[in-house]
Amino acid sequence: MSAAHDVYAYTAPAQLAQRIAELEHDCLVMALRLCGESPLTFAPETAAVMDKWRPRCEEELGTAEPRICATCNGSGEGLHDGTRCHDCHGWGIEREREAA
Ligand SMILES: [Zn+2]
Repeated sequence: MSAAHDVYAYTAPAQLAQRIAELEHDCLVMALRLCGESPLTFAPETAAVMDKWRPRCEEELGTAEPRICATCNGSGEGLHDGTRCHDCHGWGIEREREAA
């Protein structure tokens, strides 16, 4: 049994969750760094990891495709003719992220 394995075997769940959160944050920092690089320069292992992390990076950077407003189904129209959707204010997309 390796020393690293011992650390996980005797770590309380709350500490383990904290450790995983730290690792995820570290991964995100590195993924965000790599996100700006051309995938053509990646080793296959790196490309496989970045395939998993790119959506998370896009979410972090606010470059993910906007989601269709569920209230008006993307039309931007309100319940009555000539009114705008009260959730997206006529945009037809969810707007918790303001357009840059
Ligand atoms: Zn809407």
